[in-house]
Amino acid sequence: MISELTGPPEARYVFDTLLEGIGIPSLAQREDTIRPVTLCHGPLAPVAGKGIVVQVPAGGKTWTGGEAPRYHLSVDPPSESPIIRFAEDFIPKAFGCLTGRGQGDPFSYWQGGQDEEQAFIPPVLAKIQRALADALRTAFHRLGLPWITISPWPEGRPFALLLSHDVDHIHDREMFRVLSTLNHIRTTLQGRAPGDLKQSLRRVARAILSPKPVMQDFATIRAIEGAHGWRSTFFFLEDRYWARYGGRYRLDDPAVLRLLAFLRTEGCEAAVHGAYYAFNQAKAYRTAAGNLAAAWGGPATGIRNHWLRWNYPHTWRAQEDAGFLYDSTFGYQNAPGFRSGYPFPFRPFDDSSSRRLRLLELPLTLMDITLFHYLRYDLAAALAHAGAIARSTAEEGGLLCLLWHNNYFNEPEYHAYEETYRRLLVELDSVRPWCATGREIAAWWNARAGVHLETLQADGSGWTGRLSAQDPITDLQLRVEFPDGSGSLNLEGAHAHMRDTGAAMVIDFPRLAQDSKVVLRASPARGGIFKADH
Ligand SMILES: [Zn+2]
Repeated sequence: MISELTGPPEARYVFDTLLEGIGIPSLAQREDTIRPVTLCHGPLAPVAGKGIVVQVPAGGKTWTGGEAPRYHLSVDPPSESPIIRFAEDFIPKAFGCLTGRGQGDPFSYWQGGQDEEQAFIPPVLAKIQRALADALRTAFHRLGLPWITISPWPEGRPFALLLSHDVDHIHDREMFRVLSTLNHIRTTLQGRAPGDLKQSLRRVARAILSPKPVMQDFATIRAIEGAHGWRSTFFFLEDRYWARYGGRYRLDDPAVLRLLAFLRTEGCEAAVHGAYYAFNQAKAYRTAAGNLAAAWGGPATGIRNHWLRWNYPHTWRAQEDAGFLYDSTFGYQNAPGFRSGYPFPFRPFDDSSSRRLRLLELPLTLMDITLFHYLRYDLAAALAHAGAIARSTAEEGGLLCLLWHNNYFNEPEYHAYEETYRRLLVELDSVRPWCATGREIAAWWNARAGVHLETLQADGSGWTGRLSAQDPITDLQLRVEFPDGSGSLNLEGAHAHMRDTGAAMVIDFPRLAQDSKVVLRASPARGGIFKADH
């Protein structure tokens, strides 16, 4: 749909990311029927663009992130095409957020410790995305065209949920794990960290005398998730064995193999927990994925780095080079919420080619130890806080990615960890998110990005377009908004359900096969006409 762009690669990257988020099915517009959209980032000057012109001023007033960026739509002179002119320059800030370079920006909205419910990094970039979508919808309608978008999630579900677990330890009787509990006892005694001495000592005694079976925590996790029919993603670590931040188990350990087999029968996903010592090494990442795939008997296509170690641009590039489908490292240990300020999956920017990577980032939203260790919340505060983040994600229709470590389940001292997870899932289930594994979410997002819509004809009698899918996609939902508020729609070439919500015509495709071609015809309501754009 974007035929032209003036401005630096950073501007194109931001536009591409936001347009993919909005879900405009890559309108491959025909020059002779519909004029394309021209996006400009630079000094505001008359643009010799055709069709819709979107201007974002560079070097002018910088968007602060407080309110949505303001825009003005003009058709001047009236016979010409619409010009959308934003009042503020949002490109540098959005680029900074999405590359982690502007971490001070979304981070500055975090009011840690002040107001529990608001103490998270908000999805500030969603405001830009909404403003851009509003502006484009108005401009499309001004041209007499229907505004057609793809729902972010299957079946038009309100938001997506990724449940995940970093498997740092599995053995109760393990030297580093016991040392870590002893260290916890020391910091508790010194008053530097909250803790329950009796519980910690009991844990050490248990590890030595009667260690907890490996499967126990995983069975508990799966019982909590399975009550909702949900599946989750487990990140497995393979790293230097006898080292402070290294691995605590081996992938060929019979206990690990039994665990992997259990998760497989549960329909869960095993992914790579990127090694601390092999940080940013594509070769090591690839080896880890190969070893896990062999142990698991299935592909290992996702990654999240241990300790959330990440830097730009090396981490994402190493992961792309290693062939991963997605990463889920981008979050802070000590601050919950949207590190990127963006509540959707996105493709990282590659600064060597000035393009988007194929790799998808599924940003981490909330982690157990952030709530209980860094913020020192109790059960009630943690629940209030997690609920606020979930509501914020749902409001934007985004992706909520939770990380709860397996070793905090079935632990009296960490009762709040398990209980928060259990109750949060009950609360989430009541609003029917799409819960899927990281691999399924990434696959869906890629298939959605491969849906194209080509305009075949547009004139006073209506609009005709052809919908096609590069990859097969299920439960695709399209939303059609007519220029004059109402109209009728005809569809050929696929089985679909159509319903009129009053505000839009919603079409559900249970399945769209690869290379299928669907013809859509939108006609104006009786009495109204689509304005021809010639
Ligand atoms: Zn870890």
